Amino acid sequence: LKFTKLENDVKDIGLHNKINLNPYIDGAHIPTGNKDSIPTHDPATGEVLCEVPVADAAVVDRAVQSAKVALTGIWADTTPAQRSQILYRIAQGIRANAEELAIVESQDSGKPLREAKGDIETSARYFEYYAGMADKLQGDTIPLGKDFVSFTQHEPIGVTAHIIPWNFPLVTTTRGLAPALAAGATAVVKPAEQTPLTALMLGPILKEAGLPDGVVNIVCGSGATTGAPLVAHPDIAHVTFTGSVATGINVMRSAAEHVASVTMELGGKSPVVVLNDGDQDAALEGVMKAIFTNAGQVCSAGSRLVIEQGCADAFIAKLRARVREMTPGRGLDDPALGPIVSQQQLQKIDGIVSASIEAGAELLEGGKILKPDGLGGWFYAPTLLKSDHIDTPAVQEEIFGPVLTIQIAKDFDHACALAECTSFGLVAGIYTTDFSKAMRFGRVVSAGQIYINQYFAGGVETPFGGTKNSGFGREKGLEALRAYFAVKTITAKL
Ligand code: NAD
Repeated sequence: LKFTKLENDVKDIGLHNKINLNPYIDGAHIPTGNKDSIPTHDPATGEVLCEVPVADAAVVDRAVQSAKVALTGIWADTTPAQRSQILYRIAQGIRANAEELAIVESQDSGKPLREAKGDIETSARYFEYYAGMADKLQGDTIPLGKDFVSFTQHEPIGVTAHIIPWNFPLVTTTRGLAPALAAGATAVVKPAEQTPLTALMLGPILKEAGLPDGVVNIVCGSGATTGAPLVAHPDIAHVTFTGSVATGINVMRSAAEHVASVTMELGGKSPVVVLNDGDQDAALEGVMKAIFTNAGQVCSAGSRLVIEQGCADAFIAKLRARVREMTPGRGLDDPALGPIVSQQQLQKIDGIVSASIEAGAELLEGGKILKPDGLGGWFYAPTLLKSDHIDTPAVQEEIFGPVLTIQIAKDFDHACALAECTSFGLVAGIYTTDFSKAMRFGRVVSAGQIYINQYFAGGVETPFGGTKNSGFGREKGLEALRAYFAVKTITAKL
C-alpha cells in the first residue's frame, strides 16, 4: 500500500475493512457470539470509524483459558533463545507494518501522525529490547555451608492481564507484553474501548512472527463488560494496569480478591521547574513539548510550570506567543495540536478549567472548546492558567488536556515545595545550569522520574512508574521484568 496525503485516511484506503475486529483468541479472530459492539470514533471529525464487537465474560474466560494452556504447554516448551528470536521477529513485523499502524493509531486516537509514528517505532523497540533479555533471566546460588545446595530460578508469573488506556494504545500494549513474553508469561490484553484498532492489528503480526497460539489474546470492550471480568478471573496471576486512579483502585480491589499482583501506572500532575539560571530557550521548547504532546493527554505530561520569579515575566510572554501560534487540526495532517479523544474527555477538560477560573486562577490564553473549519470533532484551545493558590483544581487535578497551570516560585526551595504540592508523583522536571540544585531537586522531590534539562528524557531502557497516587511498580527497562517472573528457591541438604 502506498499512502498519499489525500488517501491518508483509514476509511478512504479501506483499512477499516482489513482489520479483523473480533477478539483474537488462541491465534485466530473469533466471533463473540453476541450482538454487542462499541463504536470507535475519529476524534477529529466525530465520525464512527468501526463498530467493535464486545467480548463478554464468557469470551474473556476463553481467552484466559487459552493463555493458561499455552503457559504450561507450548510457551513453556520453547527455549529462552527461541523466545528471543520470536520477540525479534515481532519487532520486525511491527516495523514492516509501521505505516499502516501509524495511520490507524493517528486516526483512532487523534494524535498527530508524527507522534503515532514515534509510538510505533517505540513499540518495535520494546520487543527488540526484551528479546535481548529472554535468555538472561537467571537466578543465584546461595551459600549455606558445605552441607547444602541452594539456588533460585526465575519462573514465569503465570497468565497476565493488560488493561490499556486510550492515550498510548499500541505503546502501552507492547510495553507490558514484551517483558511478559520475555519472562515466559502469557497474556490477555484489553485495549481501551476508545482506541482498540492497533492492538487488534497486532494479532496477525504476532502470528506471522511465529508466536505460538494462545500466548497472547486480545479482547475488546468496556471496563464493565470486559476489563472487570478479566481482572476478576481467578486464573490471572498479575494485572498490568495503566489508567486513572479511580479505576486503578477498583482493579486493585478485584485483583486482591484472588491475590493477584498488580502494576499500577496511574495519573500525574507533573511539574516542570524553570530556574533563573536555566537555559531559557531549551526550557521553552521543553515546556511546550511537555504539555502539548498528544494534546496533553499524557500521564507524564508536564502540566504545571513552576517558574522562578526572576525569569517569569519574560518566559511567560514568550510562552504566550508560542501558544497563540498553535493551530489545531486532524492528526493525519500532523497539526501542532490534535483533537481530544472523546466528547466526554473534552467536557471534563472544560469543566476543570472553568472551576479553576471560578476558584481564582487567571486565564492567560485559551480556555475554550474549539471548532476548527470543516472538522466536527473534539478540540480544546491550548490553554495557560496562572494560579497563586495550591488548592486550585488546575493545580491539583489531572486534566489530561492541553492546559498548563503556571505557578510562580520565590526561590529554589519554594520551587521544590511547589513541585511537591500534589498527591501525584509521576515525573518532575527541572531546567537549571546549577548541578547542585539539579541533584538536590532529584533527591528531595518524590517522583518516579526526574528529568533534568530535557523533558521526557529516556527511552524503553529507562524504568518508568509512579510514587504516591501515581501508582507503583515499574515498566520499561530491566525493572519491568520483575513483574513477570516469580523467584523460586530450591534448597537441598546433601
Ligand atoms: P480509565 O481508568 O478510565 O481506563 C483505563 C482502562 O481501564 C480502559 O481500558 C478501561 O476500559 C479499563 N477499565 C475501566 N474500568 C475497569 C474495571 N472496573 N476493571 C478493569 N478495567 C477497567 O482511564 P482512561 O480514561 O482510559 O485513561 C486516562 C487515564 O490513564 C489518565 O488518568 C492517565 O493519567 C492515565 N494514564 C497513565 C499512564 C501511566 O503510565 N502512568 C499512561 C497513560 C494513561
